[in-house]
Amino acid sequence: MKITFYGTRGVFPAGAQMSCAQVDAPDGSFVIDLGSTTLFDDPARIARLDKVLLTHMHPDHIAMLASLIVERLNLPDATGPCTFVCPESIPEYMNISGLSNVPGYTQLDTVPSEWCGLKLEATTTNHPKKNFAYKMSDNDSTLVWTGDCSYSPELVSFCRDADVIICEASMKEENLEKALDWGHMTPSLFVRFINEAKPAQAIATHFTELEPDLFERAVRKHLDPAIELHIAVDGYIFDPAG
Ligand SMILES: [Zn+2]
Ligand SMILES: [Zn+2]
Repeated sequence: MKITFYGTRGVFPAGAQMSCAQVDAPDGSFVIDLGSTTLFDDPARIARLDKVLLTHMHPDHIAMLASLIVERLNLPDATGPCTFVCPESIPEYMNISGLSNVPGYTQLDTVPSEWCGLKLEATTTNHPKKNFAYKMSDNDSTLVWTGDCSYSPELVSFCRDADVIICEASMKEENLEKALDWGHMTPSLFVRFINEAKPAQAIATHFTELEPDLFERAVRKHLDPAIELHIAVDGYIFDPAG
């Protein structure tokens, strides 16, 4: 399993793209979230892209959703319809976007237990819009991608067997109350969640209020030193095996 990050921020701080990553799995590749225009730098990549997991339907995670579906129709090399897993209805979203008759995609009714050769599972998180945290396992490791979330004991239990947790890092500590209300992590909530779930490695991504280095500094002081912390930037490639 290899993960290439195409977007690691919210709208702000500016200077990078919104949530998006490609996962190279034992049996094919897929993308998690569609918040990045960088993904579209290579039309061949878009033509090949026929599987997408969406965490939820907030704009910073689906900004390029309709564009992906429409643009693939114009790419002669596009490999059949794109299959989506998403906690809410994509056809409904296309309808309200005035794109109700656009073909080229399907949405699965449930989260499949197998996905590109990985074992797949999902749970909902503390976030005002229904959000899936996805758990993916190959023979070597188990990885959770949280999407948007705040701390919750349920999310900790879901992540107990995870070797790697990729977690959002949206808000600053001064906005703790808002973070709890709006379903996001501050440095202290991130630390609490990761220390309790105890993965071997944690990756912070989706920086919105704090620059990545400031979030990292606030987290490192209190994070269990046995847990390896990585900070995702656009272009970062993570391979749990190496
Ligand atoms: Zn959200
Ligand atoms: Zn978000």
